Amino acid sequence: MDDSKEESLGESSKQNYNSTTENSFSKKTGSEPHRVDGFKPIVCERYHENQKQVEDDLKFLADTALSSGATDAKVVPTSIIVVDERARYKCMYPPCKWYGSSVICPPRLELTPEKTRQIVQKYKYAVLIKIEAPVNALAGDRWVELHVPFEWKVKEIVSKVMGAAFNIGYHLNLGFAAGECTPCLSKGLECQALNGQCRFPFMAIPAMEAAGIDVFSTVRNAGWEIYPIGASTRLCNIPCAALYGLVLVV
Ligand code: SF4
Repeated sequence: MDDSKEESLGESSKQNYNSTTENSFSKKTGSEPHRVDGFKPIVCERYHENQKQVEDDLKFLADTALSSGATDAKVVPTSIIVVDERARYKCMYPPCKWYGSSVICPPRLELTPEKTRQIVQKYKYAVLIKIEAPVNALAGDRWVELHVPFEWKVKEIVSKVMGAAFNIGYHLNLGFAAGECTPCLSKGLECQALNGQCRFPFMAIPAMEAAGIDVFSTVRNAGWEIYPIGASTRLCNIPCAALYGLVLVV
């Protein structure tokens, strides 16, 4: 068979298929195919391409964080986000208490610094969120127990901002929180997602540092103060303590 015949046969069988499906649909419904009587599609402007709308939306998301309990929240350009392999290595050497404890911690977390760097470059703006905590909730004898409500709060606020961003059209927003996977581990439950389904999928948000984001440099680039707090830090010398979240928006 020559090419022109093959092409014309292909066209005619396509037409036959289309006319057969259209005819049978029209006969069944008595209306045009793929139309529902009385249905008027809403045609939205691509508002992500409207800079003023994007600015308003970003402000709305920062306000969402504040009204959800954040101490502070600001819109930042993603150029201030520092990704550094060493941040993730700090989870591993010496191993953090929660190293390998869930799918959102290294080594299971698939967001390696290399991938995180590529992903961050796809966004122009993010919302950075601060939740202040008493210094002795993040260091001292009882920090393992006392830091939990603050870590929980970061995840809750980041989750709310992610949901709000999704609902106004930023479907590719991506959130980061702080610390281990609090919802299960703080209750002594093992991570169920290691072998099956996550118990709290909307709260299982990886920590920035687990994905290779240098939180100290990023927060300082945003104009906020941040201080390292360790086991032997003289707590009275630390002016403030906080946990941070981040949502990449657009
Ligand atoms: S919420 Fe629980 S099951 Fe889900 S990732 Fe975290 S630890 Fe695992």
